[in-house]
Amino acid sequence: MAGGHLAAGAPEVHAAQAANPGDLTLTNGKFVDGRGQAATTLTVRNGRIFSVGKTVPLAPDARTIDLGGRTVVPGLFDAHVHYTRAGVNPGYEARRIERAFSIAELQEAIAERARSVPPGESITCIGGWNHTQFAEARRPTKSELDAAAPRHRVYISGTGGGTGALANSLGSAFFATKGVIVDPATGAVADAAAAVAALQSIQTPEDKLRGTTELNAHANRLGLTGVINGGNLADQELAFRLWREDKLTIRMRPLFPADSPQEVETRAVNNFSQSGRAVGDDLFRVAGFGERIGGTDPMSSQFEPTARMIARHGWLLQQHSISLKENDFHLEAFRSIAREYPIGKMRWSIIHLQAIDETRLETLKDLGCGASAQTWTYMGTAGGPPFRRIVDSGIPAGVGTDSTNVSALDPWLALFYMTTGRNVAGTLTNDGQQITRLEALRLYTEGAAWFSFDDHNIGSFVEGKYADLAVLSHDYLTVPDQMIRKIESVLTMVGGKIVHTAGSFARL
Ligand SMILES: [Zn+2]
Repeated sequence: MAGGHLAAGAPEVHAAQAANPGDLTLTNGKFVDGRGQAATTLTVRNGRIFSVGKTVPLAPDARTIDLGGRTVVPGLFDAHVHYTRAGVNPGYEARRIERAFSIAELQEAIAERARSVPPGESITCIGGWNHTQFAEARRPTKSELDAAAPRHRVYISGTGGGTGALANSLGSAFFATKGVIVDPATGAVADAAAAVAALQSIQTPEDKLRGTTELNAHANRLGLTGVINGGNLADQELAFRLWREDKLTIRMRPLFPADSPQEVETRAVNNFSQSGRAVGDDLFRVAGFGERIGGTDPMSSQFEPTARMIARHGWLLQQHSISLKENDFHLEAFRSIAREYPIGKMRWSIIHLQAIDETRLETLKDLGCGASAQTWTYMGTAGGPPFRRIVDSGIPAGVGTDSTNVSALDPWLALFYMTTGRNVAGTLTNDGQQITRLEALRLYTEGAAWFSFDDHNIGSFVEGKYADLAVLSHDYLTVPDQMIRKIESVLTMVGGKIVHTAGSFARL
C-alpha cells in the first residue's frame, strides 16, 4: 500500500502478507539484535525474513517452531578470520578445547571428539587456547590426555601462555617414527612445527575437505554463519567446492592477497570479473583484497601503488594495521588515494587496530572508511583493541577473531572479552574499553557485515534480510559474565535453511 490510503475498515493484513505453503514461523522467541529486542515471532519465506513481530495468517501446511522463550540472535559474522586455514589443520580437530575451563573440561572435549573419530587417528587442536584458561592453570599431563582418548593419538598446541605443544602416548609413538622428539614423562613436544609437518605428511586431500566440513559444523554449533576469510587460495578452494556441491553452511567472503599492482590487475581481470562483478552468490562471494597489500611488510613501498590499483578497479580493501605507526602509514596512503577514487564507497578499512586513538579514528571516518578490531589479545595480557573508543567514534565498525593460529575462533569467547575486558585467564586486561552486550553483538553481526557489503542482507532482524540466525542455549543478555563463554546454538539457520540443531530441536 505504499503511498496509498487504506479504506476505512480495511483488514490490517492483506492477502499478500499471508504465509505461503513452505513458510516457517518461529514463535515464542526473544529475538535480539544489535538494537535490542526486536520481536517474539518471525516468519521466513524463501530463505528471507518475511515478517518480524507480526502474526501473519498461516497456510495450512506452513511450519511453526515454538522456541520455548529462547533468545535468538542474528547469525554471527567474523569480520576477519583465517577460517579455511583452520579447516585444513591436520588430524581431527577438537576445537571445543577453546572453551574448556578446567582439565576435566579439556578431557571432556577430547573424549567427545574421540567418539566420532576412528580409533588410531589423530585428535588435534592447533592454537586458539592455552593452559592459563584452565582453573588449575597448568598443562594437562600425558596420562590425562591418555585417559581422555586412550585409543587415539592426541596432539594439541596452545597460542601464547607458554603452553607449547603436547602429545599423549599414542601421539608420542607416532612422532617417534617421524623423528619428532617428545619428552617421555610430560608429553611435551620440542618442535611444534616439526610435529605439524609430521601430521601433514599423512594428510590426504579428502582429510582437508572433511576438516573444512567439520569446521563448518563446529561454527554453526556456535551460531557462526559468516566469515570474511583471510587465507591461502588453496584452502579456499575447499569451501568453494562445498559451495558448488550445495554443502556450504557458512557465508564465505574470501579476501585475495596482492603484492603488486600487476597482481591486482591479473586478479581483477582473471579471477573476479567474469560476471561483471564477483563470481559467486550471497553464500560464497569474493570480498576483495586483504589483508596484506603490497607484500608481507605492512609498511612496504608497494603498499600505496598496489592499493591505488585496487581503487582503480573499484575493489574493497582491508589492510593489516596494528600499531599507531602502521595506522599513520596506511591513513596517509588512504588520504592520497581518496583524492582520486571514492575509497569510502568501496568500504576500505584498516584492521586489528590495537591502540588506535580518537584523532586517527576521526581521519578514517572522514574518509568514509571502516575500523575492524580483532580479539586475538584475548590470548595475551597486553589488552586492546579499544572497543569502547571505536564504538564511541561512530565509525563503521566490526569485529573478528583473526583465529586460529593467534586466537580462538569461538565467537562467545570474543564477546566475553569485548564486554568484560577479561582475557583467556580471566584477568582484567582491557579495562575501560569494555562495551555493552548489545554493542558487542552489533559489531559481530551487522557491524562485521559492513566490511563485505553484506549489512543490507544480514546482521539484524529486518524484513527482507536473510534468515541467518542462532537460537541460543542461554540468554545472552542476562546470563552472568562467565556464562557468556558457555553459550552455544541449539538451532542455527543460514538463509532459512537449518544447518545445526541440538537438544529439544535435534529432531527438526
Ligand atoms: Zn589476519
